[in-house]
Amino acid sequence: MRLILLGAPGAGKGTQAVNLSKELHIPHISTGDIFRANIREGTELGLKAKTYIDAGKLVPDTLTMSIVEDRLQKDDCRNGFLFDGFPRTIPQAESLEDVLAGMNMELDAVISLDVPNEVIVRRMAGRRVCKNCGRNYHIVTIPPKQEGICDKCGGPLIIRDDDREETVLERLKTYTKKTEPLIGFYEKRNLLLHFDGTKDILETTREIMDCIKGQCAKGV
Ligand code: AMP
Repeated sequence: MRLILLGAPGAGKGTQAVNLSKELHIPHISTGDIFRANIREGTELGLKAKTYIDAGKLVPDTLTMSIVEDRLQKDDCRNGFLFDGFPRTIPQAESLEDVLAGMNMELDAVISLDVPNEVIVRRMAGRRVCKNCGRNYHIVTIPPKQEGICDKCGGPLIIRDDDREETVLERLKTYTKKTEPLIGFYEKRNLLLHFDGTKDILETTREIMDCIKGQCAKGV
C-alpha cells in the first residue's frame, strides 16, 4: 500500500505511522526524522534544514523533494510506503504525483488525523525525544520505562527545540497556511480518509487498519 498520513504537528502521525508500518510491513518515511538524523550527523543537508526547523518554518520544497526522491528509490519502497509529515505543501504533493507516475505508481489513500488545536498544544508540551537515537516518547501517553531515559538505547530524553511553545504556535500557523490545503487537494482525488485523532492510540490504529482493508477490498 502507498499511503500518506496527514495532520497537524502533534496530531499523532508519528505514533500511528510506527503502528501502521508494522502491521502493513511497509517502510515508515518521516521527512522530519530524516532531517533530524542529518542534523545529529552534522551533514550539509542537516545544517541547511536546521535554521528552518528551529524557527517552526518549512524546509524549502526543493530540499525536501530531493530527500524524498532518494528515499523512494530504495528497494524497501517497492511494495509500498507510509509517508509521515510529507507532503506538507501543494507543490510537494504535485511533485510527488510526478515522481510516482515516473515509477508507475500511485497513492492508495491519504489518512487524515483530525485533532483540535487546543489538544495539540497540550499534547506537544509532553513530547520528549531521545537525544541519541531519535525515538519519540510522551510523558503521559507513551512514557519510557525509566523516566528521562530511552528504552531503546539508554540515551537521555529531551524536548525537541521545535516543540517549545513559541515554535509550536508558529508550526500550527504554518500548518494552517501551507499544509491544510492538501485536504482539499486529496479530497478532489478521492483519496482522503478522515479519523478522529483524539481517541486512544491503539483504537485509532485499529480503525485505520479496518478502513484500509475495506478500501483494498474495494480496489482503491
Ligand atoms: P515533523 O517531525 O514531521 O513534525 O517535522 C519537523 C520539522 O521538519 C517541521 O516543522 C519542518 O520544519 C520540517 N519538515 C518535515 N517534513 C517536512 C516537509 N515535508 N516539508 C518541509 N519541511 C518539513
